[in-house]
Amino acid sequence: MVRQAAGIVLIFLVYFLTARVSLGVGSINHSGLLFWPPSGLALGALFLFGYELWPGVLLAAFFANLSIGIPPPMALGIAAGYMLESLAGAYFLREHMKLNPLFSRLQDSLAFILTSFGSTVIATTAGSISLYLGGQVTQDSFAQTWMTWWVGDSLGVLIVGAFIIRWLCRPRFYKTLWEVVEGLVVFSSLIAVSVLIFWTPVSSIANIPLIYLLFIPLIWMALRTGPRGITLALLLISATATMSLFLNHGNVTLINGASDLLLLQIFIGTVAIIFLLFVSIVEERKEVMESLRDHISKLEEAVERVRAQDEAKNEFIATLGHELRNPLSPIISATELIRQNGVREEDAKLIDIIQSHTQTLARLLDDLLDISRITRKKFRLQKEVVELQSVVHRSQETVDAFLKTRGHALLVSMPQKPLWLSADKVRLEQIFVNLLFNAAKYTEPGGTITLTIAEAGDRCLRISVKDTGIGIDQEMLGRIFEPFVQANVPRGRVGSGLGIGLSLTKRLVELHGGTIRAESLGRGKGSEFIVELPISPNLQLQLPHAPAEVPTAREAGGLKYPKILVVDDNEAAAQGLGALLKHLGHEIEFAYDGTEALQQIQKFAPDVVLLDIGLPGMDGYQVARQVRQERGSSPVLIALSGYGQAEDKRKAREAGFNYHLTKPVGIRDLEQLLTS
Ligand code: ADP
Repeated sequence: MVRQAAGIVLIFLVYFLTARVSLGVGSINHSGLLFWPPSGLALGALFLFGYELWPGVLLAAFFANLSIGIPPPMALGIAAGYMLESLAGAYFLREHMKLNPLFSRLQDSLAFILTSFGSTVIATTAGSISLYLGGQVTQDSFAQTWMTWWVGDSLGVLIVGAFIIRWLCRPRFYKTLWEVVEGLVVFSSLIAVSVLIFWTPVSSIANIPLIYLLFIPLIWMALRTGPRGITLALLLISATATMSLFLNHGNVTLINGASDLLLLQIFIGTVAIIFLLFVSIVEERKEVMESLRDHISKLEEAVERVRAQDEAKNEFIATLGHELRNPLSPIISATELIRQNGVREEDAKLIDIIQSHTQTLARLLDDLLDISRITRKKFRLQKEVVELQSVVHRSQETVDAFLKTRGHALLVSMPQKPLWLSADKVRLEQIFVNLLFNAAKYTEPGGTITLTIAEAGDRCLRISVKDTGIGIDQEMLGRIFEPFVQANVPRGRVGSGLGIGLSLTKRLVELHGGTIRAESLGRGKGSEFIVELPISPNLQLQLPHAPAEVPTAREAGGLKYPKILVVDDNEAAAQGLGALLKHLGHEIEFAYDGTEALQQIQKFAPDVVLLDIGLPGMDGYQVARQVRQERGSSPVLIALSGYGQAEDKRKAREAGFNYHLTKPVGIRDLEQLLTS
């Protein structure tokens, strides 16, 4: 209540004083007023501090008019008009336009300009009618009076109202030293230009009107100081122009009686409208840019997070694959051993099942590991000159058992003459095996799979794997090479995998410089996968010697390395491997960590040590280094590791290993090594 009363008193005093000064300036000048500041003051105050200040406006306007000799009824009519004008304007801006007093959106400036010209119709009309009724204005001069009044009033709201709202909304502001210096420079130049234009008789230089000079500091302010600077600048220009009228100085071509006053009003009004709009566009752009920057930095953070998560996921997949492979070793060893020991016919079938499923598991894990290595860019091909036919034969052998269980026929057609490629033979085999496996998987039992290899020109080889299976929908054809994409595979279909086989195959083909695509006439109409690989016609010149068939240890009639030490912290894996080796006729000892391995080497003096790399405490590399230091080149050291990349092999070589085997180790790998 007290606050409200104080507010009313304050607005009364300020309004009254401003009105008196303005009326004084107008009466001295005789040519009318450039603008009527009290209207802007009243609108700003009611908008910012509440409608309840209206009595202050009413009383101040009343007494101000009374004080210059206007009769009380007329003064009351005029005052009521001003009070209603400020109330209507403030209400419209607050409730309808939701004006942001910082003028930071284009809609704020537009709304304010609209209010300036709209609300002032009220006071102008009320005032003109009051004067007419009081006999102070004749019918003839009514329109002229109304017009002059309205323009001055509107400019008052436009210039003073915008200034009050913007400056009183957030009166405190912080500027850096450089900004303060910049502000002083630009405001001084604005005042200097205004004084030159309005206070001196110089109106143009070299026929260029000086008035244009005003635009330079104004544009500068709009860009750099925002609405706060522009509203102040507009007030300063209007004040300077008013002073020139008051002092009757000035540019005669611009200010010369009432008609020139209207010209000046139009000029200032236009400048105010343009720059209020301009500055809010600049502000809006700044805000948009800021929020864009904000969004971009949030997006960057999100991308970084996703990347980190993706990396963590890849690391996890790699570790998971590696850890899951370890238990496969003893399973493979044990089943092979059982088979070697001789089993009943019905048990042989069960062993077939175990072996085929363990192989599938091993293959899936390999795919998973490979794809995560390729994604982590930790994958390198080990290219050599490879004869394609031998790779095809090995691939056939690998899928043979699965094809049989599904009852498929495999037709192979390829050129008789040897075809030579520069390729990684293990990976090339993986490409064939994946495509053949898929063909077998996605074809109902008893189907036909055709593998065709043909030269397409003298630099390209075309490999086609065609089946009579379930086919692929047109829209899925392009997508099936993406990781984890599976085209409508019913859950639980025999051998349905992880959805990474084709994406791995594609990457492997691309690493070989080739392309892969799928074709299908649709559901139930079979599929064809076509791989094109580059060949080099000159490769035949670098033919390697065909590898001789490796005889098994027993075929060779005698053991090259009778005593073998198996070192693995996974006891089951060690025992499985040991049992296999025993079966091959070797004498076996075990060690389950690095220190024990060194003791056993001392005691048992093995010919070969099968040494796991990931041992607790002292790892395989350390053991190998120590053995080489203490005992020179014997025994033969074979590294057993879940990791089979070139980098792992290099590390093993450097530590003193003779060979490197990737787990799970099968009996054939061992036989080949131990007899070579
Ligand atoms: P997975 O076989 O483990 O699901 P792949 O990446 O090998 O994953 O294959 C992706 C998908 O492509 C499969 O789920 C299957 O829908 C489709 N597909 C692959 N090969 C064939 C084929 N020969 N016939 C029909 N569909 C196939």
